[in-house]
Amino acid sequence: MHAKLSASGAHRWMACTPSANLEEQFPDKSSEYAEEGTLAHSLAELILRYNNNEISKKTYSTRLNKLKKDPLYSQEMQEYVEDYALQVWEQINEVKAACPDAQALFEQRLDFSDYVPEGFGTGDVVIIADDMLQIIDLKYGKGVGVSAIGNPQLRLYGLGAWLEHSMLYDIRRIRMTVVQPRLENVSTEELSIEELLDWAETEVKPRARLAMEGEGEFCVGDHCRFCKAFATCRAQKDHQMELAKYEFADSELLDDSEIGEVLSRVDALAKWAEAVKDYAFDQALNHGVHYDGWKLVEGRSNRRYIDDTRVAEVLQKAGYHEIYKPKELQGITAMEKLIGKKQFADLLDGLVEKPEGKPVLVPQTDKRPELDSAEKIKNEFNEL
Ligand code: SF4
Repeated sequence: MHAKLSASGAHRWMACTPSANLEEQFPDKSSEYAEEGTLAHSLAELILRYNNNEISKKTYSTRLNKLKKDPLYSQEMQEYVEDYALQVWEQINEVKAACPDAQALFEQRLDFSDYVPEGFGTGDVVIIADDMLQIIDLKYGKGVGVSAIGNPQLRLYGLGAWLEHSMLYDIRRIRMTVVQPRLENVSTEELSIEELLDWAETEVKPRARLAMEGEGEFCVGDHCRFCKAFATCRAQKDHQMELAKYEFADSELLDDSEIGEVLSRVDALAKWAEAVKDYAFDQALNHGVHYDGWKLVEGRSNRRYIDDTRVAEVLQKAGYHEIYKPKELQGITAMEKLIGKKQFADLLDGLVEKPEGKPVLVPQTDKRPELDSAEKIKNEFNEL
């Protein structure tokens, strides 16, 4: 059961306090990505506990074999998680070299309900040494790079860990790190305990109170991405529809600056439209909802063989032999998953290339360098 104000949702309920109440109206939905993340966390915990001599080799092997039976397990996952565990382990060793009494705790329940009603979460790794408390969080996803800077989830974990251990240790500083092995992303924020507590007191407490009571203003932003109310939130709809209200110039064709305006909104608009379509489809299919002017019908489908072996037998008997497709290699991503990233790199060194990508139009903020346009190249050529 999730807390209403979870640490992982804190960036959302802190920015848009009424979202917590809205989200309660929707069931929890698991996704393959979430399940994959859970499996990666179990694997990481197992490796770390074994490294830390908390479990025997036999227990480790038995549990590992069990995890390997999960259909979402892959050699690639094993390598990424080992990568992460190695980084954690290096950190623990470094800390222990300076402070032999340092403690490393894995999958700790962290309670921060002094600041957030019913608030708790699970910290992947907590390291306590001298005056420093560290939180390390594994992010197995690779959709978006996660930064530790100003990250409320990590700060709340830090707060929970501090609340738990401050009686026994004189903790002065807190360091929070995100490790995202599939993006080779490691990001750290370090705060003094005063800074953390000031943030908790002045920002978390009041926002949590509003969120708990369903008060405050709706606020649309990046935090809407995984909001359960995304498809049906009115504030979201109003925001997306603002494009329609733009004061476009009074001429028959849009000018370049107007097209620029449309471009800057169109991806978010398309994502929202897709979410509304998915939501409506689910409602119609699974909950019998009827939308005026819409109906459920059977989609188009392609013919398929009922029994491949039988089909082959019949055709071969009839004298047809060229009935199989030529053998095809697995795609690069699937192959990496199959044999693992390292093995892939070793064995296929020099046999994989990355051709030039086709030009794409992206926002100015994108990190990739700007391409010269055909027009510019033509002009430069004419100037020679
Ligand atoms: S979709 Fe965005 S604006 Fe709407 S409730 Fe969720 S977080 Fe708030």
